[in-house]
Amino acid sequence: MRFDGKRAVVTGGASGIGKATALRLAQEGAEVWIGDVDETGGHALAAESGGRIRFHRTDVTEADDIRALIEAAGPIDVLVNNAGAGGARAPIDQIEPDDWDRTQILLLRSVALGIRYAAPVMGARGGGAIVNTASIAALQTGAAPTAYSVAKAGVLHLTHCAAADLARLKIRVNAVCPGFITTNIFTAALEMNGDARAQADAAIAQVAAGAQPIARAGSAEDAAAAVAYLASEDAAFVTGTHIVVDGGMTIGPRHSW
Ligand code: NAD
Repeated sequence: MRFDGKRAVVTGGASGIGKATALRLAQEGAEVWIGDVDETGGHALAAESGGRIRFHRTDVTEADDIRALIEAAGPIDVLVNNAGAGGARAPIDQIEPDDWDRTQILLLRSVALGIRYAAPVMGARGGGAIVNTASIAALQTGAAPTAYSVAKAGVLHLTHCAAADLARLKIRVNAVCPGFITTNIFTAALEMNGDARAQADAAIAQVAAGAQPIARAGSAEDAAAAVAYLASEDAAFVTGTHIVVDGGMTIGPRHSW
């Protein structure tokens, strides 16, 4: 019960990693507010949770929506900036300016604004913890298209800068970098045709063949466990860093010598 008496906000909490995080925090005692554009999923999770999770319709590409979510949640101790989607699929020499902007606004500006509006609330309470969902795409090329990867690298360095800025308010800021996690983002690629589908199939085959030391895809719960650790007092001396939750993908393939 690491979050007994605590209040948390999780963006993108209607599905995938955000949903698993909301459930984990609630199971450990938190009152959780989820912000998401998915009203059906958001209301369903709130109903399922027996009152421990509340839904506030939020589009994280809109600054006013993020501010309204934080205001609705009230005195929060934890913020998980997690909402996201695949972003523009094009190499840098072919990307359209508006597609670039949309991806950065969804994945990077949303995190900056979440911190912007939550930090004064947490500061007034004497501190708090912020966890941002980055990606292994922040650490290496080839894991996701360029606009997404650059936005997630921005999330990682924003995590460092915000940790330094907000230490004076006793707010810790950390990130998780998930690898291949079977959520809607991934199954959406499986439902596509052409290149996206071929890449998704190839990724599954590579993982099964030992391309990463733990030869399975990760679950949303695998990622949520790392988020919960960073958000909890177990991580009281941890700030400005990240946990990679990728079955070892970023260190290289499985081997046996
Ligand atoms: P998901 O699609 O299951 O969940 C994403 C949630 O974000 C959905 O509920 C969606 O409705 C919500 N969302 C999308 N756009 C939004 C907006 N504008 N405003 C508010 N909510 C919005 O996918 P997921 O894998 O759980 O993704 C969660 C985070 O994890 C994302 O930031 C994603 O980039 C990151 N991530 C996922 C993986 C993976 O393999 N699944 C790997 C690395 C990082």
